[in-house]
Amino acid sequence: MRHIGVTVGFFITFEGIEGSGKSTQMEMLKRYLEGRGESVLAVREPGGTLLGEKVRGILLNSSDEPVDPMAELFLYEACRAQIVSSVIRPALKSGKTVICDRFTDSTLAYQGYARGLDIGAIREMNDRATGGLVPDLTVLIDLSPEAGLERAWARINGKKGALEDRFEKESVLFHKKVREGYLKIAESDPGRVRVVDGAREIPVIHGDICGIINKINV
Ligand code: ADP
Repeated sequence: MRHIGVTVGFFITFEGIEGSGKSTQMEMLKRYLEGRGESVLAVREPGGTLLGEKVRGILLNSSDEPVDPMAELFLYEACRAQIVSSVIRPALKSGKTVICDRFTDSTLAYQGYARGLDIGAIREMNDRATGGLVPDLTVLIDLSPEAGLERAWARINGKKGALEDRFEKESVLFHKKVREGYLKIAESDPGRVRVVDGAREIPVIHGDICGIINKINV
């Protein structure tokens, strides 16, 4: 499902709750694809542009003022519009494989299924922000919130002075809703979204992801 005439590269997104192993697996996949001669660009949302990194700081760092869910949604979509137009589309046009840590499904899962904002409205905003760009493949790393949060906390505590991600302080119930939301998205779009069991060893999960990629024959 390449976007012939619009893009020529392959667009892969990674989704999952905090601590599910997205960054770990993305890095391994990047090395794997580069090893077979592909030119790969790895980016993350929110971020990946000057504007995006500034807004990321606002979104993810602790703040004394609670962020209104609708304000949060617009901030995410603003970052997305910026990274799609200035980074992702140009890279895809030049034939690169682009791997993105979080994309439109994160907004559906977090702001929609977990925070309760209207799913249809989010889909519409996602569509506007991306100009209709849809990933060729989305890898959903599925993990229980208990396991994910344990890993995420271990990572934070291991880094002295590390800023705590706001999401990592949310309740387990919130993350359960996120996980269920992700699984609903995968169920409704099985051709694009592939669910991978994140509770296994890192190399085993990597092997699964490479298997999926090789079947698609990127
Ligand atoms: P995410 O990007 O989804 O938040 P990370 O890739 O940063 O997750 O992983 C969170 C923490 O869990 C890291 O310390 C990482 O080394 C560890 N980790 C990742 N995958 C696994 C796994 N399959 N089993 C055990 N620990 C893992």
